[in-house]
Amino acid sequence: MHRITLINGDGIGPEISQSVMDIIKASGLEIDWDIQTAGADVIEQEGTPLPKRVLDSVRKNKVALKAPVTTPIGKGFRSVNVQLRKELDLFANLRPCKNLPGVKTRFDGVNLVVVRENTEDLYAGVEKQIDDDTAHSIKIITRGASERICKFAFDYAVKNDRHEVCCVTKANIMKLSDGLFLECFRKISQDYPQIKPREILVDNLCMQLVQAPTRFDVLVLPNLYGDIVSDLTAGLIGGLGVAQGANIGLDCAVFEPVHGSAPDIKGQNKANPTALLLSAVEMLKYIGEKTYAVKIEKALFKTLSEGFKTSDLGGNLSTTEFTQKVIENL
Ligand code: ATP
Repeated sequence: MHRITLINGDGIGPEISQSVMDIIKASGLEIDWDIQTAGADVIEQEGTPLPKRVLDSVRKNKVALKAPVTTPIGKGFRSVNVQLRKELDLFANLRPCKNLPGVKTRFDGVNLVVVRENTEDLYAGVEKQIDDDTAHSIKIITRGASERICKFAFDYAVKNDRHEVCCVTKANIMKLSDGLFLECFRKISQDYPQIKPREILVDNLCMQLVQAPTRFDVLVLPNLYGDIVSDLTAGLIGGLGVAQGANIGLDCAVFEPVHGSAPDIKGQNKANPTALLLSAVEMLKYIGEKTYAVKIEKALFKTLSEGFKTSDLGGNLSTTEFTQKVIENL
């Protein structure tokens, strides 16, 4: 039996985690979940939102499913998400973005993948208050991390039958930092003659994504642009409730939705579990359980196609009612 860490998060995290565990169980696949709490709720008892036991659990099990975790603003705690990615060296953030059956959006045929560098850029947390009226934030781009993420993007393209990898920067303005990222992309692209390399500035990308998103295949971006662009691409396929993601390193992988903990709808039984469920489906493929992954994905698509939806997609089902419909369709 697979032993997998489940970080059940806070806000809507516990509700959608329960839904996903129920669906996987109903599919017939038994998983030994190693449930780990993290976030604001554990600070009082353990002094940190990300206790060492959570990291140890992921290191041991190698695979985790993670619901969103809130980081308290101020208070001096670093983001749990950022820390987890850094501690486990989960250098690649993968966010596939594809239309779902039954979810009507402005464009059909969207099928792109955002590959976001996960360890540096303005997320390195190197900030300095110069005086009362001035703050500096340092953007860190290294050759090692840039080459590694570009290689990941090209390898992903080869393995997944993709044809093009597009490097997204603002290298015309940040000539040194984004310039280095682009230089690394150009170098790595030469090792993949079968994949077409393409370059675009991030502002132009945003415009083209909202006009003609089907023009794009695999995108590779430094951390901050990747964060922003992947929320935009989530919007193209129905919003945060359906956008899946994964953080992948050499040793471990953590699968998690793009969305945050949505405290505004916490405890109301109205969160959409689809994004976490699709992240779990990718996780099952990753651990070699493709048959169950496909079975669950089909049941989810059938449910959406039949018009059963949570309120973020214009439906009227609660989280638990939607979960029940997916289970019936398994
Ligand atoms: P964070 O800073 O952690 O990203 P946030 O509140 O800024 O948190 P999200 O938590 O991602 O951003 O949510 C933004 C909005 O999208 C929420 O207010 C919520 O209404 C909606 N939302 C996000 N996820 C879901 C979901 N799974 N189901 C339904 N609505 C969602």
